[in-house]
Amino acid sequence: MRVLKGFIFDLDGTIYLDDHMIDGASEAIKTLKERGDKVVFLTNKSIANRKEYVEKLNRLGIEVELSEVINSNYITAHYLKTVMNQDDSVYAIGESPLFEELANENIKLADNPASASHVVLGWDRQFSYDKLNNAFQAWRNGAEILATNPDRTCPVQDGEIPDCGAMIGALEGATGQPVKLIAGKPSSFMSEYVLKNVLKMKADQCYMVGDRLETDIRMANEAGIHSVLVMTGITTSAMLETATDRPEFILESVKDIATL
Ligand SMILES: [Mg+2]
Repeated sequence: MRVLKGFIFDLDGTIYLDDHMIDGASEAIKTLKERGDKVVFLTNKSIANRKEYVEKLNRLGIEVELSEVINSNYITAHYLKTVMNQDDSVYAIGESPLFEELANENIKLADNPASASHVVLGWDRQFSYDKLNNAFQAWRNGAEILATNPDRTCPVQDGEIPDCGAMIGALEGATGQPVKLIAGKPSSFMSEYVLKNVLKMKADQCYMVGDRLETDIRMANEAGIHSVLVMTGITTSAMLETATDRPEFILESVKDIATL
């Protein structure tokens, strides 16, 4: 009998580019699902909520359910839920999808930022000195500092814009210390959550398919998940030549994933 496999797909640059499906992606995912393999989609982007990804994927022709889409906000909220005590509270910097995810897990927000037990840094396009100072004062009072995702920038139509990495850099610049946990890819917290709670499979039964070496491929390699790089996104052949995070498999596109 064939052993079932688990496939973890990155979204941007892997399944679609902006609003365009990568050729053959939906057929390839359908083939995997029809033969009984498990599929989950994983994104670091913290300024959209999981429902929006489900709607987008469905609109583009891939049928998915909410439980099959995991993002860095969701993982962050889950982490807080597991570590926070009754009297703890969170000061969060981010946009509404982050706050929605915290609310879903009944995470208590701090009335006064300086008294927060935990600070969460997410991508915030309204980031300000006041917010930075609030986070810094909480840190001075002993708060644990977390961030949703490490991405320095996010690709957009005409280039790229600063992502959560910029918020992390601002606070680290003030504290002189690295944040305690970055929940999104490539963290082991993310890979362990997906293997244990979503796919319910062993690492070596699973494949991580993505376009970014320092997140998708690194997470897979560190977790013992088979790593598959697709050449439809950010990574060029030249980048691959000097890379320290090397994929086990390289595919021109996700359309060939069922042939692995
Ligand atoms: Mg990507």
